[in-house]
Amino acid sequence: MDLYEYQAKDLFGKHLVPVTPGEVCTSSAAAHEAASKIGSAVVVKAQVKVGGRGKAGGVKLADTPDDAQAKAEAILGMDIKGHTVHRVLVTEASDIAEEYYVSFLLDRTNRAFLAMASVAGGVDIEEVAATRPDDLAKVPVDALKGVNEAKAREIVAAARFPEAIVDQVVAILVKLWVVMVEEDATLVEVNPLVLTPDGLVLALDGKVTLDDNAGYRHPSHADFVDREGTDPIELRAKEFDLNYVKLQGEVGIIGNGAGLVMSTLDVVAYAGEEFGGIKPANFLDIGGGASASVMANGLDIVLNDPEVESVFVNVFGGITSCDAVANGILQALEMLSANGAELTKPIVARIDGNNAIEGRAILTDANHPLIEIVDTMDDAARRVAELAAARKAGK
Ligand code: GDP
Ligand code: MN
Repeated sequence: MDLYEYQAKDLFGKHLVPVTPGEVCTSSAAAHEAASKIGSAVVVKAQVKVGGRGKAGGVKLADTPDDAQAKAEAILGMDIKGHTVHRVLVTEASDIAEEYYVSFLLDRTNRAFLAMASVAGGVDIEEVAATRPDDLAKVPVDALKGVNEAKAREIVAAARFPEAIVDQVVAILVKLWVVMVEEDATLVEVNPLVLTPDGLVLALDGKVTLDDNAGYRHPSHADFVDREGTDPIELRAKEFDLNYVKLQGEVGIIGNGAGLVMSTLDVVAYAGEEFGGIKPANFLDIGGGASASVMANGLDIVLNDPEVESVFVNVFGGITSCDAVANGILQALEMLSANGAELTKPIVARIDGNNAIEGRAILTDANHPLIEIVDTMDDAARRVAELAAARKAGK
């Protein structure tokens, strides 16, 4: 999960990385109040999960609370690279003598972490990396040894930070590493890290990516989940612990195993071409178990997507046997009906593998009005696309 700047800076503050005090606001009136509280010049900053906000006009200085309110008015609702601004961070403005760059990131290729640092910060660091790579120091960090003071000194030396601020930057790097480890982040980036004319080093911007796989260790990270910025169906799927990704299409997809689900997306998109461009509506992998309750949650999620016109349940029985899956589908539909769901969308089931014959027999015998059984994946994809197109045309 990527964090907003204000969330990243909250984590920085918690681990004693120097940041400026500020408040996140959803209205210009709140920005006025926040600026009054801060009591000095402020910066009003668009909170969107995309870089280059400054260049896009999403970062503005304001001398007075009235000015802060006007700047917030201008920034709220702005579109920055396709992201609508719903919040602004109002934070104490700093005078800037120099702008630097520091980051830690997970370096999967080298099975290690990587520290990057540059005294040419503030600007597009990608451009520095591309046009003058010597100005961007890259120092591998051993995952077990991490960043202690000696390692931080190595990074600072490699990036040639000015002597007078070496100790401050070293201390900040050690703390940012603590953020990386204790918060289970895969990226911690500060651009710019600034030097004020008074000789203080501060993190003026922050970018943090948290490792969702470690989410169970951090109950407090649940507060970072972005309710407005995330698809509501994805949020519910997350509550059910399902691997769900919303896509733009009409055929709901449920399968077991990520590889099978991905190929299902392909065959449905291919088959859908014949029916006026019918496409898969989601990725949903219900995993190995495919129990009735997991199937019910999956169907619940997919059937509640208003864009879904038909559903393709594509299960290959391996460890799970198909008769259990077939019973799971039937029980799932019963559970949903019992909970008051109005079920009208057709479901095409292709089940194969372990005990396929028994599984199909169970579905055939049940004779459920919404379920059609199709033996092969290609034929099922064609049928489900056809059903989606027909329902769409009927609207
Ligand atoms: P980004 O463009 O999305 O990376 O947003 P940043 O938070 O990095 O802000 C962009 C630029 O705005 C920075 O590089 C600074 O030059 C400038 N800026 C941000 N905060 C302040 C501040 O407190 N004072 C001054 N003078 N400039 C700031
Ligand atoms: Mn920045």
